[in-house]
Amino acid sequence: MKINLSNRNALVLGASAGLGLAIAEQFAESGANLLLVARRENKLQKVIKQLQEKYNQRFDYLAIDISNLEQLRLELQNKLEQFGNFSIVVNNSGGPSAGFAINARVEEYEAAFRQQLFAFQIVLDVVKPGMVEQFYGRIINITSIGAKQPIPNLGVSNTLRGAVTSWAKTLSRELAPYGITVNNILPGFILTDRLISLIDTEAKRKGISFEAEMQFRQSQVPVGRIGKPEEIGYAATFLASEYAAYVNGINFPVDGGFLSSI
Ligand code: NAD
Repeated sequence: MKINLSNRNALVLGASAGLGLAIAEQFAESGANLLLVARRENKLQKVIKQLQEKYNQRFDYLAIDISNLEQLRLELQNKLEQFGNFSIVVNNSGGPSAGFAINARVEEYEAAFRQQLFAFQIVLDVVKPGMVEQFYGRIINITSIGAKQPIPNLGVSNTLRGAVTSWAKTLSRELAPYGITVNNILPGFILTDRLISLIDTEAKRKGISFEAEMQFRQSQVPVGRIGKPEEIGYAATFLASEYAAYVNGINFPVDGGFLSSI
């Protein structure tokens, strides 16, 4: 099996760093044209330059805070008109801050839902007509192992993941007749800025060192290590490909066996 995404336009949100960037790099390696979305223009320009030095296909970016929903709709629609229809979308963004659900403020839930679920719905509105027209669509949502097993001290995140999971399952059934699949990737502990910041917060909360918390996390993973961002990229590239046409509405953990449920 050789995955070839040439002549496919892919839209990746949260693509300036971490998992979104790793997914964008794998898509580029497989030949996709890419529109990268994130807040920091200078970081996006740097990523685009690096991709252009390595690959020949088309790369562009949109610098925007995706929680500005109406601006997102307008600017994405404009980009789509220049870029052409998208076949692949990766819905991804920064994760909510740490804390217990019992202490969370309504504003924290609002911000988290706006930055993920609501923004993802706007993206869907914009890309759906083109996917229907092509009879090909791959919508991939980056959620978390917290969607299946609540992670301690990530109350808002756990709640958000449940909502995105239900949204995706519902969409997968509604969109399947149009050649569009909708799937979620559930990262375990993957080495990105987000994980480093969460480990730091958790270590401080427990009164232990960063290294001790890192070792504790590793000990919880059956394969005995933290994951690499590109390992999420490989899973996303498979789900984006024609080979995944019969995979629809699933939750795909990439977690080294962390989740203990069958
Ligand atoms: P990260 O913080 O390293 O990267 C997040 C990306 O999203 C960056 O490009 C950032 O600029 C962009 N972004 C953040 N807020 C944005 C906004 N409002 N508008 C536009 N772009 C925005 O995070 P990550 O580790 O890559 O995680 C990505 C997702 O995966 C998050 O939802 C996270 O909670 C989830 N996740 C990560 C892990 C992990 O171990 N890394 C585990 C489980 C779930």
